Amino acid sequence: VTDDPGLVRALARRKASFGAASVLFYDRPIRMARAEGAWMYDAEDRPYLDLYNNVPCIGHSHPAVAEAIARQAGVLNTNTRYLVDIVHDYAERLLSEFPGDLSNVVLTCTGSESNDLALRMAEAMTGRRGVIVTEFAYHGNSASTTAISPGSRPDRSVPDHIRTVPPPEAFRSGDADPGATFAGAVRAAIADLEAAGHGISCLVVDTIFSSDGVYCAPPGLIAAAVAAVQDAGGLFIADEVQPGFGRTGTGMWGYKMHAVRPDMVTMGKPMGNGFPMSGIVARPDIVDRFSAQGSGYFNTFGGNPLAAAAGLAVLETIHGEGLMENARAMGEHLRAGLRGLQGEGSIIGDVRGAGLFIGVEISVPGTREPDAAAASALINGLRSRGVMVGATGPYGNVLKIRPPLCFTASDAAFFLSATEEVAGSLGKAA
Ligand code: PMP
Repeated sequence: VTDDPGLVRALARRKASFGAASVLFYDRPIRMARAEGAWMYDAEDRPYLDLYNNVPCIGHSHPAVAEAIARQAGVLNTNTRYLVDIVHDYAERLLSEFPGDLSNVVLTCTGSESNDLALRMAEAMTGRRGVIVTEFAYHGNSASTTAISPGSRPDRSVPDHIRTVPPPEAFRSGDADPGATFAGAVRAAIADLEAAGHGISCLVVDTIFSSDGVYCAPPGLIAAAVAAVQDAGGLFIADEVQPGFGRTGTGMWGYKMHAVRPDMVTMGKPMGNGFPMSGIVARPDIVDRFSAQGSGYFNTFGGNPLAAAAGLAVLETIHGEGLMENARAMGEHLRAGLRGLQGEGSIIGDVRGAGLFIGVEISVPGTREPDAAAASALINGLRSRGVMVGATGPYGNVLKIRPPLCFTASDAAFFLSATEEVAGSLGKAA
C-alpha cells in the first residue's frame, strides 16, 4: 500500500487510535467516501458494487431515511419513558408485519442486545437455561450472545448449558432430507440438556443459516426441529438480524420460508437502513412473565424517536418501492446467472439461497471439497474489478451475496460478468 500516501496516512491513524481490536476488510483496505443505491465510492471516487452489506437494505444514503432522521432530530429525541406518538406509530407499523399472537415489541439498539434479552425472556418463561444453536452460528457480541456464537471461537466451544447441532446442509453431505436430520439432532440435544439437568429453554436459529453457510431449502426445512422444541416446552427464537426486512423475497421474515411460528423474533441490521436500531417481537405472555420477575426493560437509546422515524421510512420504502418483489425477481435472476457459470472445471460448486440472500459454494472443480483459497482469490479479484462480496461458513468458502434490495438488472450484469472472468481464470480448463 506504500504507493498511496493517503492510504498509508489513514492506516497509521487507524492503528494509533483503535489499536489491535480494529478489523479491516481486504489486504489493501478501502478508504470509503460516499455511497448511493447499491454502489459505494472510495476517496478517489472509484465505484464499488456493494454485494456485501445487508444493512442499507433500501439502498445506501436513501433520502427517505436521511430526511426522516433530520426532521425528527430537529423536533424531539429522548428515551422511551415518555409517550411519543412517532414511537407508537412505529411499534404498531412493525407489529402489523407479524401474526396476531406476536403482538408486543421491545426496542433495542443492536442485534446482540435483542438476542441477549430474548435469552433472558426465554429463561424467565421456561424456568430453564438450556439453549440449542447451530455449530457455526453467530448471534452477537455480548457475554451471553458470544456464548451462543460458537462460530466466533476457533475451537467452537460452548458453555455447559448450550448444545450445538449441525446446520441442515445438503450439498456436501448429499443428505436427501436435511430437515429430518436437523430435527433428529435437535431432539438428541433436548434429551441431552434434560439429562444434564438444564432442560430446554430455547432453540435460536438464524433463519437463513448465514454464518453456517446459507441454507434454506426445501421449504419447511426447520419445521420439524422447531416442533420438537415447542413440544418439549421450549421456545423458538427466530433470529432475523440477517434475513429480515424482505431480503428473502418470500415475505418480510426468513422464518416464513419454514412454515413455523416463532415465540420470539429478534431483528436489527437493516431495520433502520444504517441507523442503529433493533428489537424483539414476542408473545405478550412472555413479555408479561419476564417483566413480572423484574422491573420491565429499559434501554437509554432503544426505541428513541429518531430510530422510530428511520424505521418507519424503511418499512414504507420496502413496500412503496416494491423491494420485496425486486428481491425475489433479482435473486432468481442472479442465481440463474451464477448457475450458468457452473459446469466442468468450474469452482462454483453450488448456488443457493432465497431472494437477495445468496450463498455460492466454492469447491475444488469436479468435487464437493471446500476451496477457501479459491474463494479468497475470487473475493480479491472481484474487489479489483469494483465488486465487494464476503465469504461465510466454517471453511470460509461460501460467497455471501447480500446487496441492497434496490439491486438492478444492470448491477446483476456487472457482477456476473466480473464473476465469469475471475472464476473462469481460477477454474480448470475443461
Ligand atoms: N444475529 C445475527 C444472525 C447476526 O448476523 C448478527 C451480526 N452479524 C447479530 C445477531 C448481532 O447483531 P449486532 O452486530 O447488531 O449486535
